[in-house]
Amino acid sequence: MSGSKSRLDAIATITNYAPLASTLKYQEKPSSEVFGDNVFGLPIMKKRLPREVFKSVKKTINTGSDLDITVADVVATAMKDWSLEKGATHYAHVFFPLTGSTAEKHDSFLSPDGEGNAIAEFTGDTLIKGEPDASSFPNGGIRQTFEARGYTAWDVTSPAYIIENPNGKTLCIPTAFVSWTGEALDKKTPVIRSGQAVDVQAQRILRLFGDDTNSMVTVSCGAEQEYFLVDENLLSLRPDLMMTGRTLFGAASPKGQEFDDHYFGAIQERVLAYMFEVERELFKLGIPAKTRHNEVAPGQFELAPVFEAANIATDHQQLIMVTLKKLAKKYGMKCLLHEKPFAGINGSGKHVNFSIGNATQGNLLDPGETPHKNAQFLLFCAAIIRAVHNNPGLLRAVVATAGNDHRLGANEAPPAILSIFLGDELTKVFEEICSNGKASASTADGTLDLGVGIIPNLPKDSGDRNRTSPFAFTGNRFEFRAVGSAQSVSGPLTAIGTIIAESLDYIATELENETAGDLSKLSGAVNKVLKSIYEEHSAIVFNGDGYADAWQEEAARRGLLNLKTTPEALPELISEENIALFEKYNVLSSVEMHSRYEIYTEQYIMKVAVEAKSAVEIADTIIYPSAVRYQTELADNCLKLKELGLDYDTALLSEVVALTKGLLDTSSSIKQMIADEKETPQAEAEFSCKEILPAMLKLRGYADKLEGLVSDDLWALPTYQEMLFIK
Ligand code: ADP
Ligand code: MG
Repeated sequence: MSGSKSRLDAIATITNYAPLASTLKYQEKPSSEVFGDNVFGLPIMKKRLPREVFKSVKKTINTGSDLDITVADVVATAMKDWSLEKGATHYAHVFFPLTGSTAEKHDSFLSPDGEGNAIAEFTGDTLIKGEPDASSFPNGGIRQTFEARGYTAWDVTSPAYIIENPNGKTLCIPTAFVSWTGEALDKKTPVIRSGQAVDVQAQRILRLFGDDTNSMVTVSCGAEQEYFLVDENLLSLRPDLMMTGRTLFGAASPKGQEFDDHYFGAIQERVLAYMFEVERELFKLGIPAKTRHNEVAPGQFELAPVFEAANIATDHQQLIMVTLKKLAKKYGMKCLLHEKPFAGINGSGKHVNFSIGNATQGNLLDPGETPHKNAQFLLFCAAIIRAVHNNPGLLRAVVATAGNDHRLGANEAPPAILSIFLGDELTKVFEEICSNGKASASTADGTLDLGVGIIPNLPKDSGDRNRTSPFAFTGNRFEFRAVGSAQSVSGPLTAIGTIIAESLDYIATELENETAGDLSKLSGAVNKVLKSIYEEHSAIVFNGDGYADAWQEEAARRGLLNLKTTPEALPELISEENIALFEKYNVLSSVEMHSRYEIYTEQYIMKVAVEAKSAVEIADTIIYPSAVRYQTELADNCLKLKELGLDYDTALLSEVVALTKGLLDTSSSIKQMIADEKETPQAEAEFSCKEILPAMLKLRGYADKLEGLVSDDLWALPTYQEMLFIK
């Protein structure tokens, strides 16, 4: 029998795990029928709102037009009645502060009526606007210069929903969170603003192509969420996982991810039961959870919803993370959203799939059947190629977090170097356009022919597409794979939208100037702009293996940026060009950009500090005592053998002593580093990155070696194999 007392207890508890009784009331209502049950969406509004009011709200949702304030009271009353019928007692304005979390302030529907009773009240004013105290949320310097107060404003385009708790229900209203002076203090507002920028610029191009329906162009997003599950009994013995979401110590398991985790024993039954309930909850919230599967690493899984409008997808993504975490507890597990909970095996990402489209054109990133459609498609692709090539620093900055650095900066997917995968077919089309000197003319019916022939059928979404590329074309969409699993998709979507808007603006201007109102010149103009963009920006296109060392060298030759760490990447948010870019398209002001830079830098520093403190505490109070006890055992044994006149060998003892000393010395030098304050947050972040993190790795080196030597019954920390394989 092995394992220290508490470790052993934990393992015994899990091994005796009772089979789950079904916790879901399938008999009452099958999952297929619960979709959207808890959502105050268009179908419910249609039933409950007067026709004119419904039409007005629907118009706002579908066209992005301003909400007619006079309808707010009517909507509020309908929303309240619906919520009360469903059993809700409270309502909450939900918003997404820059910490990346979900914040909600709950209020009761009940108000005293002045006569000793209470009545349920909910007016248009309270629906539209809330006033949480903004001062407890980070604002990155905005507070010093402006008012501390902020308010939340209803986002009509994202439907309200009810969250259930065994003891009550709450109506949740998705809102934007802004300061009194109008600065966005949240993650939702910029997504909406960048979507508007894309709409304006994309429509200029569509108009040139004869679509003057003004149909709103929107960005769609489908985000794949990866996560780990660990049994709570083991987790409670790992202060590092509890405090930081990742293991700061732990020798590699004899089996890593080569182990096939897809078997369906008692273990997987619990995970599957959990997934069923997660999906059912998401369904009720109108979140189209679609795909679930085991991921590459043992103990790692994925959940992907069907794509939705970017703003809604952002809200839903946040709800998915909350739901995954909340329900894991019920199944005796902890859901780890951290990008790198375990060293040596795959980390977790959040692949952000996105496309652009509108009602009349459909998906603009879908090649389409006609040359005319294909010309349009190629222009939008070219816009994205140009955008990524021009803005690698910004794209790296919006995925820069302490956790994600362990994926991007390390030898893991995807690399920190931004490049685009187009696939052989599409690459060939662009190359053909470049080598094809003369532009072909428009056809008689005014549609375009680029003279490159019909674009071959591009393979869509085949599983084996290049998975090493951080930015890949996958048949009818692009997939940004560098996003971290714990991140909101807001930052990446905001940046992607803004840089694409800028590229579309550039292209539209070129085409407008070139054609000067004479659309017979359009074909030539399109050809010219495609050619010049591809010639200038093809260095960003890379269809090879992004993990290979050769790519690092090749990328350097191509002059591509390689920002390995967060402190290197975050200053991109406040570069002159990036501020100018975001201001030009009214997505973020200079003040808002600075506030984000400051908050994210501060978060990085705090994350590393908490990790360093946890590492030191674990080394001193858990690992060191185990090592010392083992030293005593070994020393006693040597003494006994000596007494008996037998041969004895102190080699192991010496090794353990040396490692223990190394552990202790490194721990005290880390303590000094933590105490060492730097002048600016940037300097502090760089110090955390260049000094503290490497020292923690050194500390871990001693500990992990000790783990391989110290008697297992003295080792207190659950091991990698236990955490990854016992479920
Ligand atoms: P894979 O694992 O092959 O990348 P998944 O099916 O797991 O594919 O996830 C793909 C994600 O991309 C899903 O969320 C899906 O809804 C989304 N998606 C599919 N088509 C589009 C599109 N046109 N625009 C945006 N997202 C899309
Ligand atoms: Mg997938």
